[in-house]
Amino acid sequence: MQTNIKDLIDDSLYDTVRELRWPEGRFCPFCASKRVISIRTGFDKNENSRQRYQSEECSKRFDDLTGTIFSGYHQSLKVWILCLLFLL
Ligand SMILES: [Zn+2]
Repeated sequence: MQTNIKDLIDDSLYDTVRELRWPEGRFCPFCASKRVISIRTGFDKNENSRQRYQSEECSKRFDDLTGTIFSGYHQSLKVWILCLLFLL
């Protein structure tokens, strides 16, 4: 039986990201409005739990990683976390 090491970190990773990033509720990273709606999850097939949002104030879209050091890369968050663990 083969185990993919990435599967050892489960999808609740994004719940943790959201709790750390928005402890007092989500807000738009562009205009800081708290009027934010959830659009959908699973837009990235490798990252089913990554949630996408839209600001009702400025209409810009963002996701759990927008504006963080993890955004703009093709690696999944799981891969980044594994890299960080190996550095410890
Ligand atoms: Zn906004």
